[in-house]
Amino acid sequence: MTKFIEIEAKSVLQRQKYRDNWFWNRYNLNPYRGCQFACNYCDAITEKYLVHADYGDFSRIIYVKKNAPEVLEKEVKKVKPDVVVISGVTDPYQPAEKKYGLTRKILEILAEHEFPVHIGTKSDLVLRDVDLLKEIAKQTWCTVSLTIITFDKKLLPYLEPFAPSPERRLEAVKNINEAGVQAGVNFTPIVPYLLDNPGNIEEVIKRASKQAEYILIGAGMTLRSNQRIRFFELLKTNFPELVERYENLYGEQESPPKDYILRLNRCAFEFCKKYKIKNYIPPPGFERHPKQKALIPTESYDRDNLEVATLLLLMAFLKEFKSANPYSAWAYHKASNAIENLNESIRDVYRRGKLREIPGVGDNIAKVIEDVLVNGRSERLDKELVEISSVLKIG
Ligand code: SF4
Repeated sequence: MTKFIEIEAKSVLQRQKYRDNWFWNRYNLNPYRGCQFACNYCDAITEKYLVHADYGDFSRIIYVKKNAPEVLEKEVKKVKPDVVVISGVTDPYQPAEKKYGLTRKILEILAEHEFPVHIGTKSDLVLRDVDLLKEIAKQTWCTVSLTIITFDKKLLPYLEPFAPSPERRLEAVKNINEAGVQAGVNFTPIVPYLLDNPGNIEEVIKRASKQAEYILIGAGMTLRSNQRIRFFELLKTNFPELVERYENLYGEQESPPKDYILRLNRCAFEFCKKYKIKNYIPPPGFERHPKQKALIPTESYDRDNLEVATLLLLMAFLKEFKSANPYSAWAYHKASNAIENLNESIRDVYRRGKLREIPGVGDNIAKVIEDVLVNGRSERLDKELVEISSVLKIG
């Protein structure tokens, strides 16, 4: 029996220091703390996110930010519209949403104030709000990512006991795309030794490719603090033969080793190519969905800055995916952030020959920026995309 505790939030719109190059968001918004879907690999039970006294209560006690819409209404008036991810921590369409409707009220406010939105969920309840998602997509940018990690009916009760079936989630992806709103699949996490076999990876990518605009690959499942304790309990009870293999794979670390992640990334990437699906979310303002407008007005100098900044972040994403090293493209992140926050046009900086004075910009990145400003495209990015460019569903 779930217990709901209504709480008053002081603030709900959390700004990140850097734009995320997986989800493209600047803001996080979580209407609920705790999650009724109770996935056994969930990392939201780590101390970093947890508000419960005992992590065992994470799926039994749901804290409901009852005043979230009123607080948001005030906050959106004070900041520049930018991509909001709902939710960065817990599922915004868990059953609590049927009772409280906070996610819908939040979407109404974001639509009214023209904020772009990225929804992440495991529930087809998101279909209830397609009218609002369409409105947001028409105004600015909207994408919806449904998580699917397997279709294996024997394993799902252990991993995601209370979430809607992957078939229902995939049907939701199809319906959202058909409504003209970009939707894809988040294949995260690829659970070691249970879901990391080529058969499962191929099945998820193959079935997703028929309905989704993109598939995000999350090969490095974390195991931190409470998350690790709970997951090892699951293994000891149900998959005892895997305990030693996990101990060997993770050791004292929170993530699997780089070579393991790299192997899975390569395997998944091959299937993405085979089934002609992007392994990244097309960012706002760079490669727009045909029915979506630019994130910001074309006449503004911000448009150039945003295009260059997101393009650099996309390059970082592709480099990081290929190397399985989240720090391998740090200069691109730094440069991107600096360009997005410039108080003048990147074109003016280029004309003055001062690109290298921007933090993070060295010769390579300066060449990318120059290419984009002069030719409207970057050879280096094209090179990164070349392996999949022939198969991308780019309009
Ligand atoms: S749906 Fe997401 S937040 Fe909810 S329990 Fe599963 S992994 Fe955690």
